[in-house]
Amino acid sequence: MFKNKEEFKQAFLEKLHTLYGECLDEASDLDKYNALGSMIRDHIAKYWTQTNKQYRKKEVKQVYYFSMEFLLGRLLGANLINLSAKKMCEEALKELGIDLNLLENIEPDAGLGNGGLGRLAACFLDSLASLSLPGHGCGIRYKYGFFEQRIVDGYQVELPDNWLRDGNVWEIRKADNAVEVRFYGNVRVEEQDGRTVFIHENYEPIIAVPYDTPIIGYERNTVNTLRLWSAEPAIKDFDFSSFSRGDYVKAVEYRSAVESISQILYPDESHYKGRELRLKQQYFFVSAGLQCIVRRYKKYHGSLKCFHKKIAIHVNDTHPVLAIPELMRILIDEEGMGWDEAWDITVKTISYTNHTILTEALEKWPVDMFRNLLPRIYMIVHEINERFCRELWNKYPGDWDRIHKMAIIADGQVKMAHLAIVGSHSINGVSKIHTEILKNQEMKNFYEVYPHKFNNKTNGVTHRRWLLKANPALANLISETIGANWIKYPIDLISLEKYRNDTAFLDKLAQIKQRNKAQLAKYIKDKYNISVDLHSIFDVQVKRMHAYKRQLLNVLHIMDLYNRLRENPDLDIVPRTFIFGAKASPSYVQAKTTIKLINTLASMINNDKRIKDKIKVIFLENYRVTLAEMIFPAADLSEQISTAGKEASGTGNMKFMMNGAVTIGTMDGANIEICEVVGRDNIFIFGLTAEEVANYYHNGGYCSWDVYAKDSRVKTVVDQLVNGFFPVAGEEFRVLYDDLTHNNDPFFVLKDFASYADTQLEVDKTFRDKYKWQKMSLVNIAHSGKFSSDRTITEYATQIWNIKPEIITNP
Ligand SMILES: *Cc1c(COP(=O)(O)O)cnc(C)c1O
Repeated sequence: MFKNKEEFKQAFLEKLHTLYGECLDEASDLDKYNALGSMIRDHIAKYWTQTNKQYRKKEVKQVYYFSMEFLLGRLLGANLINLSAKKMCEEALKELGIDLNLLENIEPDAGLGNGGLGRLAACFLDSLASLSLPGHGCGIRYKYGFFEQRIVDGYQVELPDNWLRDGNVWEIRKADNAVEVRFYGNVRVEEQDGRTVFIHENYEPIIAVPYDTPIIGYERNTVNTLRLWSAEPAIKDFDFSSFSRGDYVKAVEYRSAVESISQILYPDESHYKGRELRLKQQYFFVSAGLQCIVRRYKKYHGSLKCFHKKIAIHVNDTHPVLAIPELMRILIDEEGMGWDEAWDITVKTISYTNHTILTEALEKWPVDMFRNLLPRIYMIVHEINERFCRELWNKYPGDWDRIHKMAIIADGQVKMAHLAIVGSHSINGVSKIHTEILKNQEMKNFYEVYPHKFNNKTNGVTHRRWLLKANPALANLISETIGANWIKYPIDLISLEKYRNDTAFLDKLAQIKQRNKAQLAKYIKDKYNISVDLHSIFDVQVKRMHAYKRQLLNVLHIMDLYNRLRENPDLDIVPRTFIFGAKASPSYVQAKTTIKLINTLASMINNDKRIKDKIKVIFLENYRVTLAEMIFPAADLSEQISTAGKEASGTGNMKFMMNGAVTIGTMDGANIEICEVVGRDNIFIFGLTAEEVANYYHNGGYCSWDVYAKDSRVKTVVDQLVNGFFPVAGEEFRVLYDDLTHNNDPFFVLKDFASYADTQLEVDKTFRDKYKWQKMSLVNIAHSGKFSSDRTITEYATQIWNIKPEIITNP
């Protein structure tokens, strides 16, 4: 980006001066960080313009990835890497006495997502730009990101994540591109020139203002756009007569009601308090995004008849599914198109990814709320439903039961997944098993009607952030060994396979792992004052806290191990450091209780001199992208232990694999495909299969009391939850005990316990054979190329979106 270090230093000092009127010794670290970010933005501006110019001139088809969440993490380091400017920047700053690392640590995470779904969207943006594909993100600019987690006395405490407090160098406010979004009011139907027209009146207008963030491709000129919308009051157009009478309070209330739309990211949980606000958020960004896309398209193409040939809209889960009726509204009400033509264009434009089969996560909105908030959109959804049910009636005459089950509106609710399936041309699951479950179980009825719409796109993660950036030592070793092509073509990592019996190479791998473990150990020592054994197995489970992910299974196994160690402190085990990281939804009692359980167990174990430091338990607070980047490279063992059939794909599993951790997991989600590529010898599989779990569900066959009664180890640890073993108020862990016993263990924790414990013994045994373990680690890295989001995005681009790479020329 700059020819040499001298030029870079010069530009940096000038930037500091123009921005802050400061010279170097006066500048704060924040100023230095902002100056650096601002320099990068200046540098890429011409590429950004060139990218948009070329997309427009060549009329290339573009995809817009609509998502309620983009879990970006930090951008400075990733941008420097993608611009191949990291090394130069590091050296130039060093000569000025500045540590780049320190500046990187100033940037707050852009934590605009809950977990996997939001991080997937961020990985996809990186891959789109790095593959020179014309694809952009569209979402909400939340003022507060996902909450910051503190652990106080073992409990999770949530603090607001005020990530914009010190500004955001990466975004540009585009006030000129603001659009109006309309809520409430009523629809007047009129005949005009023999046509029925729909007039939305008495609505409450809100202004949506976009903030654009550049998405820079790896060693490409491509700079795509992430457009995030912020809600502002529409002062001009709104009725302020009551305000002008001096009702200052009302005016302030109105402002804060409007701003609340882009105020907070909802934690994913089944019972939202402000449900209407969530629906408002969804329509807000979908309407703003679509209006803006349509406006630009019209400017260059006039009519919208061929919209779908140049524009693809992808909806990440059902949250942005209102894009379907909103596009219909624009085509019919604003463009005067007939229903059939509008419908044809809409279906051809929209595609949808399903992310979960957990029924509590399927979105439904009460009809009354929906109709009141979005009267015109409701009319359109109603009409879509009428036509769909008629179609079903023709196909299944008299089969009321089936039609009722499949309807978009039924039992006073609007079912967003049904709307998504009917109104899009592609529905994809996120791993092979997940897609099969969708087709054969959850959405069987829809698959029967639209078999051609269903397809699989196994998730992926960007190896540039999760390997190249997070684990520079490993990335360097790989490039020294097989060349650097893998950065653009991650499938090339497979060339590492031939070193599987090369002990010199395996030793180098082990050294890197050891150094990464030392780094994480230092973080743990500095932050929690706990020393961990660098030769212990770093056994890691980091992901959202949820019953189906079964952190509790991991905990019960640790309790059992602890019991055995207390009985026999000389028990022959490889020392282990059990590491957890997880946020729980603020209202999810079981999840929060599990966090307290982990922390309680941790302080008992870490302070118990009898067991001679053979095991330690660490709960890393505030799990997020930046922390994840430190954890994955240091992991030996990756815990992917969800109840089979429940984890749609998982992406954490892929990040671990890329960094040479070996998986212990169930045959669930993408674990199955990881197993497929590395082979059974290079992964530890245990537990029930999805089919077995499903059979139990259907036959009511599993009785957790039986396991409890028969397996004395299980009985002991389950009893310890409530019998005073833990130094907590008596009933603290009762909810967990009840779930496992009286509620018949809905996630098969006890059922899988023995198999899990046996497999952990196998892990222990294998780890003792140094080269065997390192070979497994190597095979995992070598086969991780398949799980790069470059592969995933190439499949979306060719099979769903029909978009092609557009090489951006030098501006
Ligand atoms: C990858 C990632 C996730 C998803 O992890 P899973 O194990 O797939 O659930 C969640 N949070 C963060 C911060 C991540 O980086």
